[in-house]
Amino acid sequence: MPSPRFPVTDDHIHIDPVNGRGTEAAKDFFRAGGTHIFLVSKPSWSLSVYPSRGADYTAVFNETLRVARMIEEIGVVVFPVLGVHPAEVSRLSERMPLAEATDIMKAGIDVAAAYVKEGKAVALKSGRPHYEVSPEVLTASNDVLAHALNRAAECRCALQIHAESGPCTDIADMARNAGFPVERAVKHYGSPDTPLHPSLIAKHEAIPQLTREHRAFTMESDFMDENSRPGAVIGPKSVPRYTYQLLREGLITEEDCHRIHAETVEKVYGVRITL
Ligand SMILES: [Zn+2]
Repeated sequence: MPSPRFPVTDDHIHIDPVNGRGTEAAKDFFRAGGTHIFLVSKPSWSLSVYPSRGADYTAVFNETLRVARMIEEIGVVVFPVLGVHPAEVSRLSERMPLAEATDIMKAGIDVAAAYVKEGKAVALKSGRPHYEVSPEVLTASNDVLAHALNRAAECRCALQIHAESGPCTDIADMARNAGFPVERAVKHYGSPDTPLHPSLIAKHEAIPQLTREHRAFTMESDFMDENSRPGAVIGPKSVPRYTYQLLREGLITEEDCHRIHAETVEKVYGVRITL
């Protein structure tokens, strides 16, 4: 691979040296032309952490930062994103009342916000279950999400949102109520119909069209890096691979690549993207 002419940023990826391929997956990304990643903390249970208070998330977040340092040695720039996976509500409420689960998740987000304030992470992550849940669980999850929006507003950082597919228009309203800029509310696994900032899966068919329209979006693999679920998502190379494929096919230009992978990312996350 010759040195890249433009940055290629994966907006949402997990790397897990304990349960997955770890730095080998990051090397695949790098060799395919990838330069920057937003490394998202994994759900607590996937690291065998079973929180009973917010501080227990420290172990999860420190693991994300440890992996970030390992990946940076390869030559990839890593921006850590820390937060509480929305599905934690289901796991936690198996062991405790819903109100307690909600409090632990909010406290976990507070811990993540402290990392952002210290400059150890660039963004927060929250959301609500993408699967069917009871009205009580949905209300509790929206409560956690509102808390995350408030924290992100306070930290002046972006918030990645994991939620059901579709536009999630009400989340844009929640953001405005929290005084949080909607364009920094990143809809993970997003679709073009959302008023939030869409992070599109790398192979999304609308990418050439949105690029022509100069719509702001970012690209992600959502690679989980779990050997037990090898086919669950597309691979770690997918963002650079699809970017270069679209470029070769003449569907996007090098200037578009700069806009997608550098300028847009800088605006949304407040980071600097350079080669
Ligand atoms: Zn993810």
